Amino acid sequence: MHKFMLDAFLFLTAVAIAFLPGKAQEHALAFTHVNVIDATGTSVQPDATVVVRGDRIIAVGKSSELKTPGDTQVIEARGKYLIPGLWDMHVHEIFGDWLPENEKIIPLLFVANGVTGVRDMGGDLEPLKRWRSRIAAGEMIGPRMVISGPMLDGPVPQFPSSAPIKNAEDGRRTVDELKKNGADFIKIQSLIPRDGYFAAAEESRKIGIVFVGHVPDKVRAVEASSAGQKSIEHLTGVFEGCSTVEDELMSKPRGPGRGRFLATYDPERAKALIALFVKNQTWQVPTLYWEQGEWLIEKTNSGPDPLAKYAPAAWRDRIWPMFTRDIASGWSSDPVDDRERFVQAEFKMVREMNRAGVPILAGTDTAAGVRVYPGFSLHSELELLVQAGLTPMEALQAATRNAGKFLELADTGTIAKGKRADLVLLDANPLEQIRNTRKIQSVVLAGRYYSRADLDRLLHEVEEAAANSK
Ligand SMILES: [Zn+2]
Repeated sequence: MHKFMLDAFLFLTAVAIAFLPGKAQEHALAFTHVNVIDATGTSVQPDATVVVRGDRIIAVGKSSELKTPGDTQVIEARGKYLIPGLWDMHVHEIFGDWLPENEKIIPLLFVANGVTGVRDMGGDLEPLKRWRSRIAAGEMIGPRMVISGPMLDGPVPQFPSSAPIKNAEDGRRTVDELKKNGADFIKIQSLIPRDGYFAAAEESRKIGIVFVGHVPDKVRAVEASSAGQKSIEHLTGVFEGCSTVEDELMSKPRGPGRGRFLATYDPERAKALIALFVKNQTWQVPTLYWEQGEWLIEKTNSGPDPLAKYAPAAWRDRIWPMFTRDIASGWSSDPVDDRERFVQAEFKMVREMNRAGVPILAGTDTAAGVRVYPGFSLHSELELLVQAGLTPMEALQAATRNAGKFLELADTGTIAKGKRADLVLLDANPLEQIRNTRKIQSVVLAGRYYSRADLDRLLHEVEEAAANSK
């Protein structure tokens, strides 16, 4: 076929299939002559072919050796790089009146940015479950979802989508109810009281459900790790745990006073805490991008915002101004110098944890947080993980292989025969420059192919939905 006709044909085919979310196409799809970065840690496999049928990868091999089936849609990908679909391991998608349900914004931003899986760390369980089944049925475009439902917080929760916990009894009962209602895991928030926390932890172990989240204000990081909390978000409790005055820091409300955290930091205590995390395999989701927004909001929330067109009115007009005010008057009321040093200390902490063997996940806390856009922010997080000291491969693994391992989902996180076909094709090598994960040429979501033109159409849909939102 003439080159132009072929392009036109592929374009029309892509347009025809992409916007019926539908099931994966029945014919096979193959990337040929592509550089595969399978995220297992082995080096780039050049000149490879990856074949997809239905929602699975059915073959990976050398292009010179692997025959593609006759009905295959071939994507010639010479010079390009294929990575596993990305996971954002800390997101909020439907979160009371903070993040009202809108299936044309958050899910599409994820997919358009190559994020094909998310761990939803707190939200409205029933609508999230509906999204999940509609996505699985092909009625809606969106990432694979692992969801917690409401977060276990104190007697007077700070946020929507929360379950108030007053005591041990509440802790146990809420864990049981969430499990019964189909939550995949339990999310802990900062204000849960000690007895409620330890009861929830014990009940979770007993009935076999994972619990994760903040180290609560009244619990030590060593206690959370020893109780079996599987992941710690935002390094909560970590700097308290490294301080010679941990008790004093824990007795105060969390927030400002970061100069004191730094002044009382004890490298020996840090070493011991990190060793415990390694021993217990307590995963860390440092949410570095979000941390910058929290501590240095006057920087991150200034200047033009090229992504503003994707933010619905509720974020721009209501949630973000409220958040900015709260952060500036609370967490970020320390001298800017202390806050900058604290962010640097967080980077150093992540570097030391990674070096010691603490397992790390990439998470952003999107769409909570000012200008923390779904999808886009995950790429920023990968860049910050590299800035903190992870290799580009390690950062990539924090959003791919590690996610599969953490979630105990054997069919995701790497590129191999039998895995779910969630893939991202890049124009340049992310192991040379991690920011190359942004150069997305196409995405495969559960076997469905989205060309660059398709992804741009999704972004355009988001823009329209944002403009029409209330
Ligand atoms: Zn969160």
